[in-house]
Amino acid sequence: MKTIVMKFGGKAVEKTERFPLIADLILKRKKEFGRVVVVISAMGNLTDQLIKLAYSICDEPPKREYDMLVSVGERISIALLAMALHTKGCEAVSFTGSQSGIITTNDHTDARIIDVRPDRLLPPLQEGKIVIVAGFQGVSSTKEITTLGRGGSDTTAVAVASALNAKRVEFYKDVPGIFEEDPQKSLCQEHFHKLNFEEALAIVEKTGGRVLAPRAILLAKKNQMPLVVRSFCEEFQDSLGTCISEESPKPKKPGYESEGAIASQNN
Ligand code: ASP
Ligand code: MG
Repeated sequence: MKTIVMKFGGKAVEKTERFPLIADLILKRKKEFGRVVVVISAMGNLTDQLIKLAYSICDEPPKREYDMLVSVGERISIALLAMALHTKGCEAVSFTGSQSGIITTNDHTDARIIDVRPDRLLPPLQEGKIVIVAGFQGVSSTKEITTLGRGGSDTTAVAVASALNAKRVEFYKDVPGIFEEDPQKSLCQEHFHKLNFEEALAIVEKTGGRVLAPRAILLAKKNQMPLVVRSFCEEFQDSLGTCISEESPKPKKPGYESEGAIASQNN
């Protein structure tokens, strides 16, 4: 049975009222697919608020403690989503980045994912439960909590999907796909239906990485993981969104291909 990864960003869970709606969407996909892993970000601008909180105490927060604090945002989301699914009679289990086996470099506040060991995710998946993974965070080889840099949950989704040999990652946004320009700027554009990784990267970089983190696209290319950008909004739910994949994929060994260390450290 193939797995799909569904990724929800902060906008999708801006308010607590959104959790039951997201839960419905997940249940619908589970019926169609069988195995679903969800990666979720912190609610709305909660990460900004947590960062503000840190700076209200300290001009230069120690990076270890900063990670300890800001990783909490995603932890709130995973637990609330699991509860929303439970109220709908569906078994769901939430996991932090560390519990999910997301092993990172030691670079607090901007860590890279070097390995994913999803041992704890497999038994609940095999039992038919929905697995929910906290985005944006991992654990270093010295067992410290790390975060991946702003917008890092997209990268978590691609890494987890690769480790589980998932069929694809579906990113659920407030827009029905990727547009030539920021859709907030011009509403009369049509979204792209199909892009390769290079095309997606170029567009996303031009529009400031708002729709998808460029780093997640690079990691998807490395892992040949197909991506879909679609909408969580009721009115766009019939739209198939934008599919991003390699035109002629090369064979790749199963499992997670590391995103590598931070470039500046390689020089
Ligand atoms: N919550 C984190 C941030 O706002 C990670 C993410 O949303 O991807 O940067
Ligand atoms: Mg966020």
